Amino acid sequence: MTVTKKIDIKAGKPYRVKIGKGLLDKAGEEAKALGLDGKALIISDDNVAALYLEKVSSSLKEAGFEVFSFVIPHGESSKSAENLLAILEFAAENAFSRTDTFFALGGGVVGDLCGFAAAVYMRGTNFVQLPTTLLAAVDSSVGGKTAIDLEAGKNLAGAFYQPKLVLCDTATFDTLPDEEFSNGMAEVIKYGMFCDGGFLDILTESNTDIEEIVARCVAIKARVVEADEFDKGERMFLNFGHTVAHAVENLSGYTTPHGSAVAIGMAAITKAAIALGKCESKTFDILVELLKKYRLPFECPYGIDEVYNVTLKDKKNAHGKITLVIPAGKGESVLQKCDYDELKDIITLGLK
Ligand code: ADP
Ligand code: ZN
Repeated sequence: MTVTKKIDIKAGKPYRVKIGKGLLDKAGEEAKALGLDGKALIISDDNVAALYLEKVSSSLKEAGFEVFSFVIPHGESSKSAENLLAILEFAAENAFSRTDTFFALGGGVVGDLCGFAAAVYMRGTNFVQLPTTLLAAVDSSVGGKTAIDLEAGKNLAGAFYQPKLVLCDTATFDTLPDEEFSNGMAEVIKYGMFCDGGFLDILTESNTDIEEIVARCVAIKARVVEADEFDKGERMFLNFGHTVAHAVENLSGYTTPHGSAVAIGMAAITKAAIALGKCESKTFDILVELLKKYRLPFECPYGIDEVYNVTLKDKKNAHGKITLVIPAGKGESVLQKCDYDELKDIITLGLK
């Protein structure tokens, strides 16, 4: 077994992220060591439950928890108000109290939904993240953003709510479909692009341990989240590549996976930055080499006008300005507030 890596996150009440193979077998003892006990509600989706629910359930029982589970169908459409309410009713029917614990066993969909349920059940119950996708491990399980989707769009209702613990069992990635792994790699590459050139070298040159990769991303995310828990400034860097990505996802009717869309978005903004003289051209080459290595797309299948029009509807377009993360070199970026004309220019240069 590889050595477990540990990163402490100082947002809200500080909590620890542990990364290593085999951690799901220890979910019970790890939770108990934090002083958690009583009832455990494991929330998972059908795919993940078939693979790992029994393991987590036994571990929690062994540690003395009274264990319940709630399994939702896999896929984004499960991040719904209906499922949120169903989970809350289920917890109430089974007499869960505020000192009991919800466990999110799965990818981003399960983590976001379970986190929001934990945030609002009795105004906040204990919450543990057990991410089983690379994307959830490096992105959604850390930082305390929880949400469900509304008819009008993704993640439109939610709360900032930090978990008590994140246990990332990297052995679960062995069963992850290749496409899902690639999707997670898009977010991994994002971290290197916006702030860590050395990490880009590591990703380009060698086959680094996945634990190393996840730990480096979580450490960067920890730093960003600690500086800006409630998404007012620093955290905007995490949106690198995401403006065009959100438009691509939207235009595809959400059939393009998030990671693929982020890959296309990163390529577009980097191309635009080079055309504007803000970034040297080799940054684009480094990015494209990495995207190819992880079988990610980098060409946008949609036209300039379509992308621009959808971007204008994005929820973050406050007061006629949009903040973009512009690459300024290998592993460097700056925030730039753009008005709609500047945004149009950037999208034009990026997609040409
Ligand atoms: P993400 O984490 O990418 O945001 P999801 O939560 O929708 O997204 O997970 C992506 C898909 O991968 C879902 O169909 C889910 O059931 C499946 N999945 C999650 N973790 C694993 C795993 N470790 N092994 C196999 N399939 C998994
Ligand atoms: Zn993302």
